[in-house]
Amino acid sequence: MSYNFTKATQLLALTKDHQVSISEIAIEYEMETKARTREEILKRSKSVLSAMGKAILDAKDERKESVTGLVGGDAYIFNEYLKSPKKKEMFMSDIALHAMVWSMATNETNACSHCIVACPTAGSAGIVPASLYAARDRLKLSEEVMVAGLLNTSAIGLIIEENAMMSGAEGGCQSEDGSAAAMAASGITEMRGGTPEQCLDAAALSLKNVLGLVCDPVGGLVEVPCIKRTTFMVMNAFTASDLAIGGVTSKVPFDEVVDALRRVGEAMPRELRETALGGLATTPTGLRVKAEMAERKNQNDAARKKATG
Ligand code: SF4
Repeated sequence: MSYNFTKATQLLALTKDHQVSISEIAIEYEMETKARTREEILKRSKSVLSAMGKAILDAKDERKESVTGLVGGDAYIFNEYLKSPKKKEMFMSDIALHAMVWSMATNETNACSHCIVACPTAGSAGIVPASLYAARDRLKLSEEVMVAGLLNTSAIGLIIEENAMMSGAEGGCQSEDGSAAAMAASGITEMRGGTPEQCLDAAALSLKNVLGLVCDPVGGLVEVPCIKRTTFMVMNAFTASDLAIGGVTSKVPFDEVVDALRRVGEAMPRELRETALGGLATTPTGLRVKAEMAERKNQNDAARKKATG
């Protein structure tokens, strides 16, 4: 029997037929379609998780500026604040607050041109790692459970990629950060013992919440609003997972939500698909930043030219 799937309905049927989790189907799928052994898949997953952890550490404990100088240091600033007595006045739980740091840290690492795992993209890179690490710490889970969570996210990502799109240039931020949040929501739901149905409900609830979200990076850089936006997406994933675990289902099934994602993405004007021609990118601040970036580039080019004779 084949483990191939492109739809959530097929994935769910496979989990039922074999009485296994979504992550287990993801492993079988990889073995079947990529000719990899189980050991290779698990080893690779552990190394991906390790790279995700390193990207978090890269920016969490040290104030780092992006290559452009536009952003940086927010993960460090927020992390330092969480060490103060004021932390107890925050609305979020301890683990949610730290997940916010981890998500920003990962995307700041990306903005510094250091190593990250594009999961599914660089702009959304912080969402899945912060969610998986938070679930691990919240529930004191093993690395094996984390690996299962990661593999679960890959199955959800595959369905979105097959039936819609995953880049801001194609479908707006809904398809980039939205996909990451849906993947994370499903992954952490499996990690905490949720059923495949609950995982897919979590993914659907999460993705429904961000349909229509545009891609409007200031200056055309994956920095503003991208870095901070990932923190909101982690909360989106947590909320969806909590709802699904608590018995709330999505009226619209995941496959139909993904179809809606594709249709909304296709209908989105070009100005709101990573061209920096609309939304936040064309606010007075967005335009000023763009002009400053162009000026800085001209100065750097001139200096380089002078240095090389
Ligand atoms: S705003 Fe655009 S560039 Fe930034 S994370 Fe979203 S999709 Fe990516």
